[in-house]
Amino acid sequence: MANVNETALDEKLELLEKARAWSPRIISKLETLIRTADDFSLFRLNPLQYAVEKSLSENEAIDLFLYAVKVALFEMEWHVLCPHCGYVVESLRSMSALHSHYRCRFCTVERDTSLDDYIQISFTISPQVREISFHHPENLPIEDFYFKYHLSRDVLSPIPGVTLAQAFAHLTKYMGYLLPGEKAVAEVELPPGLLRATDVNNDASFGLVLTPDEQADSQVIPLQLVNGKFQSPDPEMQPRTLVIEDVTQQPRTFSLELGRELANGNHTLQIENLLNRRSALWVFHVQNDPPPVMDFSPFLTGKKLLTTQTFHDLFRSETVRSDEGLSVQDITFLFTDLKGSTALYDAIGDPKAYYLVRQHFDTLGHAISQNNGAIVKTIGDAVMATFMNPTDAVQAALQMIQEMRTFNRSISHSLHLKVGIHRGHSIAVTLNDRLDYFGQTVNIAARVQSLADADEIYITEETFASLNDSTLLENYAIQPEQVVVKGVSDTLHVYKVTLRQ
Ligand SMILES: [Zn+2]
Repeated sequence: MANVNETALDEKLELLEKARAWSPRIISKLETLIRTADDFSLFRLNPLQYAVEKSLSENEAIDLFLYAVKVALFEMEWHVLCPHCGYVVESLRSMSALHSHYRCRFCTVERDTSLDDYIQISFTISPQVREISFHHPENLPIEDFYFKYHLSRDVLSPIPGVTLAQAFAHLTKYMGYLLPGEKAVAEVELPPGLLRATDVNNDASFGLVLTPDEQADSQVIPLQLVNGKFQSPDPEMQPRTLVIEDVTQQPRTFSLELGRELANGNHTLQIENLLNRRSALWVFHVQNDPPPVMDFSPFLTGKKLLTTQTFHDLFRSETVRSDEGLSVQDITFLFTDLKGSTALYDAIGDPKAYYLVRQHFDTLGHAISQNNGAIVKTIGDAVMATFMNPTDAVQAALQMIQEMRTFNRSISHSLHLKVGIHRGHSIAVTLNDRLDYFGQTVNIAARVQSLADADEIYITEETFASLNDSTLLENYAIQPEQVVVKGVSDTLHVYKVTLRQ
């Protein structure tokens, strides 16, 4: 029987209903889910998956859960996923706690964090509305603790017909909670490969290489959990680091905290918990090959969230640790400015001119959010926006110019846009309590904008080459140019896009 707080649920659903206009029955479907679904279905919900199941648009499903967080119906979590083992390396309530580098506690790989690929945003029912077992991971059976709580629910198994949790269960040699002072003894058959153990509660791990030479005698492998680490009285078990190449040919560092070689065969594990807190021990056997990069069901990435206008509107205070910043491999920036705004202020006076400029911001904001982008900031009469992909950015720019033409028919002094677009790598940071972006891609996008005159869009070669809709610029004149701009050493290849006369 679901443990639902009726008063809280009613109150929050009512707030959610009023938050914006929704598609028919969207709130009642969510209510049914909250009332009837099993605990796991309300844990780390994937809004893209939810959109597919309920036949909603992705954007509406994302909005639904963002507003649901705002009214405290759901809680939002940021996860760092490990692409090599499918585990949730870190799970945080806010992006401010994300680090630019991490080490996976499960497969020990070390990687840099990037908002594009393996940072996932998920939504869990609020404990004020309905308590689920996953709100209290410390009380979960250890199988659920490792295979449901810590393993990503969106990782796809490389083996057909077998879930990754089932595959991991098959590799398990020992699994159990060890209380302080408790000792686990297990006789295990260890084929050639790698014996790995992890204690996620204490962030400890060890590894042992089993060689192909067969061993007649069984050996005892003595291990102790001391000072948050596995230690062994056996002097041969010294810490070491394995560097192996993954399938992308990039060297990846896997750092096993203990390691030695042992002939394969039947051996006895003796693991003693000398810590003053409980250990969640999982011992498993894997082949000695580099772990492959796993596939995941489509999920809401950090980058997608940062280019969603609703997120900017509702969670302005979300911040990135300013001393590190977070890398975004590929993001598209759009800058606009107004042609002749000084003359406009001069001609009609500040209040009227400012009123028109505000209206023009609304028009731009509409074109940006309709094309899956988000406004980062306005600077004077200029707008800086981000997009997941260049096609959306160019589409938004064309729509802006078009809508400004319509807008101009209703006013005495015409306003004309100058637009620039560029894509590439950037660093997301927080400046003055607001999310912002830094790097040469941003600088170039701003410089490219300054090349444009009234009703012109300048896009860089990088943007132009990656447009995935060949009909997009059909009715436009496209003129290639080579330019040198301040602060950029290479000649820039750009395209001027204007409506055909
Ligand atoms: Zn991993």
